[in-house]
Amino acid sequence: MASSNVLISGAGVAGATLAELLTRSGHRVTIVERAPALRRTGYAVDFRGAAFDVLSELGILDDVRQHDTKMTGTAIVDRDGTQVDLLPAEAFAGELEVPKHVLNELLYDLTVDHVEYRFGTSITALTQTEAAVTAELTDGSTETYDLVFGADGVYSKVRQLAFAPHSAVLQHLGLSGAGFTMPNFLDLDHSGLLRTADGTAVYLFSSADPDRLTVSLSFGTTSGALDRLPRSEQEAATRAAFAGDAWHTPRLLEAMSEASDFYFSSSTQVHLDHWSTGRIALVGDAGYCAAPTAGMGTSQALLGARSLARHLTAAAYPEAFARYEAELRPYVTENQANGRSAAAMFGGAPD
Ligand SMILES: Cc1cc2nc3c(=O)[nH]c(=O)nc-3n(C[C@H](O)[C@H](O)[C@H](O)COP(=O)(O)OP(=O)(O)OC[C@H]3O[C@@H](n4cnc5c(N)ncnc54)[C@H](O)[C@@H]3O)c2cc1C
Repeated sequence: MASSNVLISGAGVAGATLAELLTRSGHRVTIVERAPALRRTGYAVDFRGAAFDVLSELGILDDVRQHDTKMTGTAIVDRDGTQVDLLPAEAFAGELEVPKHVLNELLYDLTVDHVEYRFGTSITALTQTEAAVTAELTDGSTETYDLVFGADGVYSKVRQLAFAPHSAVLQHLGLSGAGFTMPNFLDLDHSGLLRTADGTAVYLFSSADPDRLTVSLSFGTTSGALDRLPRSEQEAATRAAFAGDAWHTPRLLEAMSEASDFYFSSSTQVHLDHWSTGRIALVGDAGYCAAPTAGMGTSQALLGARSLARHLTAAAYPEAFARYEAELRPYVTENQANGRSAAAMFGGAPD
């Protein structure tokens, strides 16, 4: 496709990767990102299979490898904390795992010279004609683009504006959970510990920072609405789910209230019949999130962005979008099936 003027919503893995690959084929790219600046915190993300080829193509594979969390494995313990099994590192850390912010920073550094980033900005309205898409932005500006991409995650604004309301496309897998870090009182060393009991799961690990323990407290819930509630209510729901639990749980719950890096997330998938409409397309979690339980979100974002960029280099947009979807959908379908069965294993709704 001839050089075009492109707007991407979301400076995550999918957005920044797509921006880099599109600028290499001569497109002009602007990214609007709702967050005021690049996030410097977050959980770890891992890479599997063909995602390595994308990191290589981007020229950042060696840099990413330097930040490998070097996890060794995860002990499965029973209710009392006695080890009953040991999972290899790949089970939770894929073939390579890094802190999410490291990947975001590497992608940002790669693109910042030739992509226009507008932090603290979102799209508020999209109108498309045969010839172009007009985007209204939260900074009050209105601009026209040849193509617009939603790479803005599970609760994508682009999807909401141009495709369907959240309620029509989000499938909650019946599993939610709180995450945070605390002092590494168990002295875990590049290793993890998983305990499941009565519809709850506690996953603890320590890797990059030996002084810190990363804690995930998951539990079965009937709705994903908790994601949108204030922290106090998310904490209360977590406490209620783990009420009466012994082992280290009371200590973990106490640390949760003091955590400055608390986050809450529900295992949610995105299901759409089509990933593009006219000149607007979705990429990464915005289009086809498989849920964190699939462990494939980062790989999907990388592969999705590359597929989209490649097909746009070879064909005009309607055809390129159709080829992108035909290429990626079988992979996404498989990942989503795995995401559902893994959620059920952790206490979510039966698959
Ligand atoms: C707790 C948890 C653990 C996970 N663990 C793993 C794992 O181990 N392995 C793995 O591969 N994946 C994991 N994932 C999933 C992985 O993080 C995502 O699948 C992956 O980051 C998807 O990338 P993305 O670019 O599509 O979306 P995101 O990384 O969500 O990026 C979306 C971007 O869009 C921005 N944005 C949102 N709304 C707007 C808006 N209205 N306007 C502008 N910008 C907006 C966001 O701020 C963000 O920067 C995990 C996810 C969670 C929640």
